[in-house]
Amino acid sequence: MIRTRFAPSPNGLLHLGHAYAAIVAHDLARQHGGEFLLRIEDIDAARSRTELAEAMIEDLRWLGLHWDGPVVWQSTRLGSYGAAADRLRAMGLLYPCRCTRADIAAAATDHGPDGLIYPGTCRGRDVDPAGAAWRLDMARAVEIAGPLVWEDELAGPQHATPEIFGDIVLLRKEAPASYHLAATLDDAADGITLVTRGADLFAASHVHRLLQALLDLPVPRWHHHGLIVEGDGRKLAKRRGSPSLADMRRDGADGRALADALRHALLPAGLSLTTGIGWTT
Ligand code: GLU
Repeated sequence: MIRTRFAPSPNGLLHLGHAYAAIVAHDLARQHGGEFLLRIEDIDAARSRTELAEAMIEDLRWLGLHWDGPVVWQSTRLGSYGAAADRLRAMGLLYPCRCTRADIAAAATDHGPDGLIYPGTCRGRDVDPAGAAWRLDMARAVEIAGPLVWEDELAGPQHATPEIFGDIVLLRKEAPASYHLAATLDDAADGITLVTRGADLFAASHVHRLLQALLDLPVPRWHHHGLIVEGDGRKLAKRRGSPSLADMRRDGADGRALADALRHALLPAGLSLTTGIGWTT
């Protein structure tokens, strides 16, 4: 049986791009007689707001989407992130880092999918771990895991290349876990068999596949769908004025009709849908 999920972070209101992501995940599950889960990724206490999560739940109901089981709140799972980090630490794969953004900007030379690649300043150094972030020693992790492959339903088989990210942060100073660690562990805990999300997160799956290998987690399939973009090719974003679903809902728009329009890629003027393949930010 297939099980998909929609996993929004409650740090802003949902817009049409999120609606499309939720519909893709929902419909793929329903078309195959499977299950669709809603997981609220609320571990970043400084940026997450309960009222935004509540608005998201209302938005999804308004779109006519139903999920199976109770809503999963990532903030209830903190223990599992710490346990996984302990395991990676015992394997000698994590190191503490106290570098600031400015330190990294001054020393980094290369870019990866998430921005500047960490130049490895704290690797092998005796750094006080109190209040530090913890980074993955990527070269060592890749060596231990060996060659890995993963499968995207649209883009086909992929060789995992997590090294393009460098030594990523897995435990953050200000939040209990990074997106990569929390999402990978939760997809396993939730029994997700098909990870559906936008093609802007395609590269993240290289890292998630590596973490699955290191932590002996089941390996799902992926479906990185196309993104709704503006005329200039940029993704929708609240900060650039893309209307929120909550605004449309309060203005009396018909959510189910909107969902059906998105299913047929019928978009408001000026917006288009990219293919899921080969997206780079
Ligand atoms: N919380 C992430 C986001 O909103 C989820 C990404 C995912 O589906 O893995 O971007």
